Amino acid sequence: MSGQPRPPEQATAAPAPIDTADCLAALSRGGSTLMSADHWAEGVDRLLAEIGPVTGASRVWVFQLLEVQPDAVVQDYVFEWASSEHYRQLNQGRFRFFSSSLKDPVYRRLVEERQAGKPHDFCIPAMPPGPLRSDLESQAIQSMATVPIFVNGHWWGTLGIDDCERPVSWRGPGLDLLEAAGQLIAAAVYRYQLNHRSRQIELFHKVADCGVWEVSLRNGRVWCSQALKRVLGYPETYPRLPLRRLLARLHSDDRAELRSRLRALRGAAGSAQFRLDARLRLAGPLWIWHEIIGEIQCNKSGRPVAVAGLLLDISQRKQDEEQALAAAQLDALTGALNRRGMAQHLETIGPATAPRHFILLDIDHFKEINDTHGHLVGDALLRMMVERLRHELRPDDGLVRLGGEEFAVLLGGMRDDQALALAERLRRCVAAEPFLVEMPEDEQPLMVTMSISLGVARQGDDASHEPNQLMADADQALYAAKHAGRNCALFYS
Ligand code: GH3
Ligand code: MG
Ligand code: MG
Repeated sequence: MSGQPRPPEQATAAPAPIDTADCLAALSRGGSTLMSADHWAEGVDRLLAEIGPVTGASRVWVFQLLEVQPDAVVQDYVFEWASSEHYRQLNQGRFRFFSSSLKDPVYRRLVEERQAGKPHDFCIPAMPPGPLRSDLESQAIQSMATVPIFVNGHWWGTLGIDDCERPVSWRGPGLDLLEAAGQLIAAAVYRYQLNHRSRQIELFHKVADCGVWEVSLRNGRVWCSQALKRVLGYPETYPRLPLRRLLARLHSDDRAELRSRLRALRGAAGSAQFRLDARLRLAGPLWIWHEIIGEIQCNKSGRPVAVAGLLLDISQRKQDEEQALAAAQLDALTGALNRRGMAQHLETIGPATAPRHFILLDIDHFKEINDTHGHLVGDALLRMMVERLRHELRPDDGLVRLGGEEFAVLLGGMRDDQALALAERLRRCVAAEPFLVEMPEDEQPLMVTMSISLGVARQGDDASHEPNQLMADADQALYAAKHAGRNCALFYS
């Protein structure tokens, strides 16, 4: 056929002679090879090879859409069936990642209609002159039919027929065949994308200790990734996870927090995200810390319709954090609380344990002990003394190393006489027996006698009686004890 266009009035296209029964048979064969192919792309080739001969056209092709830019559309020529080698175009470099200008209003309208899902049917000699017609003529095309392929609601590409010999119309069975084939291709691409995504999700779960979930708020349906189902103790093929029972695995405090977070996000426009650290029981009885990263999706009227997100095992991180926090509150040499730990302890014993007592204690003549035996022995003595003091204290009595050889004990819920009696017991436990300090291999253990002086003070009933004042009172009592000859306990008065 010559490239010379015919005048439009002569191009009254007769319908392409297509047999409907042949179409159905080709679609059926093509559809089943498409679904059974190892890879969807190979399946598309086979589908085109089935429908191509039925159309009697020169080519059947698929363009994949890469990008719609403000003034151009970028596509790639990805599949082709040609009735003869002569009509093959896929191997031509000019169709690789080609860009078509939207400056031509005819082409722009064509693209807009494809985006809206509309099929097209062109008899080239009847087209108005312009860039689109010239382009088709440059490929010696006489008639063309196209349908856009939509995958999951997005324009994914275009399926088309070129006939270089007949200026015919493809309306009717021709376009119907293309539409059905387009749907089959869309289903294959979508199926591939879903498989691919679920493999990625599973891989993500493996490397990130993370589960993926989604809850529909319309009907309470729960979807979980395979790996999350496994962790929860459900078979991978379990069809319907019970939301109530899943929520029951959340610690009640965290469940309440989750509810209030979701309530706060209600009415958000579109979607809103949240993060929550929560304790969760998986298949076993233990609470395991997880981070819930979720997104709540609302409909146009702000009504929440779904919550979806990730579940990350953060138990190791929590454990490390707790250890680091505890370590930051302890004195490295003796294991007693440090000043930061004391502040925390004061908060935890709280006002319910009033009255509070404060015992301040200081080792007598410790400088001399250090000077005589050396600093290492001094350190060992500090550690051993803390051990002895602990034996006399309840687990909740805070023992604090304020610095150097000066310590404090924080007490709650004792009478004055009980607090003083405890101070006396502490004094006695240090002075009663000498400390036996282990020495390097060839030396004998060292016996060191040590004593402490103590001052005791009570927090006044007045709430304004601050911890600092309490400490100052105890310090005065300690000072008095030192002056009274050391190795004694005095109550602040
Ligand atoms: P006093 O009976 O009046 O309390 O006399 P003292 O010698 O105990 O008091 P002073 O404040 O003069 O000396 C405290 C000494 O405690 C000085 C220092 O050598 C020793 N000391 C403070 N911190 C440490 C420590 O971490 N390790 C050791 N080995 N010694 C310490
Ligand atoms: Mg001292
Ligand atoms: Mg001192």
